[in-house]
Amino acid sequence: MSDFKTLDDLPDDLSGQRALVRVDLNLPMADGLATDLTRARAVAPTILELADRGAKVLLLAHFGRPKGQRNSTMSMSMVQGAIEDVLGREVMFIPEVAGPVVEQAVDILGNGDIGMLENTRFWPGEEANDADFAKAIAANGDFYVNDAFSAAHRAHASTEGLSHLLPAYAGRSMQKELEALDAALGNPEPPVAAVVGGAKVSSKLAVLENLSAKVQHLIIGGGMANTFLAAKGVDVGKSLCEHDLVDTATAIMAAADRSGCTIHLPYDVAVAKEFAANPESFRICNVHEVSADEMILDVGPQAVEALGDVLKTCRTLVWNGPLGAFEMEPFDAATVTLARTAAALTQEGSLISVAGGGDTVAAMAHAGVTEQVTYISTAGGAFLEWMEGKELPGVSALQRG
Ligand code: ADP
Ligand code: MG
Repeated sequence: MSDFKTLDDLPDDLSGQRALVRVDLNLPMADGLATDLTRARAVAPTILELADRGAKVLLLAHFGRPKGQRNSTMSMSMVQGAIEDVLGREVMFIPEVAGPVVEQAVDILGNGDIGMLENTRFWPGEEANDADFAKAIAANGDFYVNDAFSAAHRAHASTEGLSHLLPAYAGRSMQKELEALDAALGNPEPPVAAVVGGAKVSSKLAVLENLSAKVQHLIIGGGMANTFLAAKGVDVGKSLCEHDLVDTATAIMAAADRSGCTIHLPYDVAVAKEFAANPESFRICNVHEVSADEMILDVGPQAVEALGDVLKTCRTLVWNGPLGAFEMEPFDAATVTLARTAAALTQEGSLISVAGGGDTVAAMAHAGVTEQVTYISTAGGAFLEWMEGKELPGVSALQRG
């Protein structure tokens, strides 16, 4: 995965060259305003670098799910102001993605100017990865840069098709993501620990199967740990538990055993009778002492301490999914404690730590460790598919040779 072309493979001076740059500007909106600029900030370095090197930069992105039709509420013009604010530059909005309107706009743009094409998903050729659609877009570019890792699990015209028609490069944000993921799982320094938590085994079966063959320690927490505990004969009371997946859990444990992967399940847990913050019924107990009317909502303090000791023996950590129902106190305790241990080990230089997943990003922020772990991936679906060991079409297309 590591050998892909980057902006360093382009000539220093890009004057007059037209750069088609796939970015993720699918910003969360409320009342017509972007509520979070993280995605825009992530792609700003690539855009500014290309512009400063003299290229005419043409941004390509999708916004919402217009399903192959023009829809004014999902026009890229909705995020024009937000991206201009983040870049501190003017961005020309171009209401087409190909054809003469784009050609004329590119003529108007000077070297170092930035244009933003319309929502790629207004055209059915985008999601169909239609060759003629991709060719029409490519006609207005001299090279292609993909800076949208979060869309790399989709083989669409703007995420994959274009890379076969133009010289293709990873942007800086894509590059950072690929380097972090490679260090965490592609080519990691052993021993490697993986934390897999979250609600359900069923949503992360492929992740568990892939990791159990690759890592030395697989730490299972969250609701999915209950299914594994049930598979070991533990009575989990009224916990979230997929009883129909007990055999699958047993098979994963057997496969892990064969490949020398130790699976860590909680032996003490935080339980309550209701799914609520600070419930009166909250208590810590051994996994064998959960009563019929109780739910396991977090890993217990003793188990977390032991997990911290496991991390101390590891060089690499990859984490997806919270260890408990972290949105409600005190069931955030295990996630917060282990995240802080991982952050401290990372700061000491003994651990490379990479985390990703929608709720995981929120959990890491809640623990206050966002800046202290090695890398946090905000690419939900693409991050999970990568943890499943899948090839991402948008990434493969950037590979050398
Ligand atoms: P991510 O978005 O990071 O991939 P998931 O969506 O798989 O993570 O899981 C997050 C959800 O799992 C959270 O809403 C959390 O409350 C829930 N969860 C974690 N542990 C438990 C548990 N023991 N019982 C019920 N829900 C849980
Ligand atoms: Mg989630």
